[in-house]
Amino acid sequence: MSKDVETVLDTSKELRSKDEFCFSCVPDKDCFTQCCYDLTLMLMPYDIYRLKKALGMSSKEFLERYTSVHVGPGTGIPVVTVKMEGPYLKCPFLEEGKGCTVYNDRPGACRAYPLARIAQRSHETGEIDEYYYVVRESDCRGFKDCKSWTVEEWVQHEGLSEYNEFNDLFSELIHAKNKSGVGQLNADQIEMFYMGCYDIDSFREFFLEGPNLDRYMEDEATIQKLQEDELELLKYGIRWVKKKLFEGGSCIACGLS
Ligand code: SF4
Ligand code: SF4
Repeated sequence: MSKDVETVLDTSKELRSKDEFCFSCVPDKDCFTQCCYDLTLMLMPYDIYRLKKALGMSSKEFLERYTSVHVGPGTGIPVVTVKMEGPYLKCPFLEEGKGCTVYNDRPGACRAYPLARIAQRSHETGEIDEYYYVVRESDCRGFKDCKSWTVEEWVQHEGLSEYNEFNDLFSELIHAKNKSGVGQLNADQIEMFYMGCYDIDSFREFFLEGPNLDRYMEDEATIQKLQEDELELLKYGIRWVKKKLFEGGSCIACGLS
């Protein structure tokens, strides 16, 4: 979001999957790509996975080149944001006059706008209860001459399901932290969090190739699955951080799906 742009979260209406909203973001709008400047673009674990794959880089290279990290003042966890570039603070993935160069793998936040998802897992059923609010940015013309969408049509159109699945896993990690009473993380804990959640290639080296005891707690089938499937490794990494830092355990395989 640009610093001059006012962002309003419309909490007057909770939108469920069949509810409708009106929006249209097309290249002939005069605001086209203006939202790709001077914004705080936070990256979640699955965003980093998609972007580093799309750019043919390791997660370490991607993080070093394109992102900054700071410790969230509220959450106490490391937060990764995209480093904007140049005098106008352009997103590095925007090619002026053309558009987003990583469009097929753009971050979940870019896909979801103008919706913001609120999700909670039920303690009784284990099911996710989700709803959405509309977010309005003052300079966005997407609400004029707009097209009607149901929430589920938007989620499908923007390819959000897998992003939501990983975000839910990450939320469980934050929930575990809050429940544990752990406050600010120390430097070693921050490093562990960063590696398990964001730097998947370093986590692979550490967990599958390095001399650590955790690997020997898992059976062969689990290790093979993690070696063959990077998304399973990413899920494992997030659960590993949760167990190691906030639940005081080391068996993660029970949570593998
Ligand atoms: S319509 Fe809104 S989201 Fe689309 S380019 Fe314009 S400002 Fe960005
Ligand atoms: S990733 Fe793409 S859509 Fe998102 S802000 Fe950057 S250029 Fe815009």
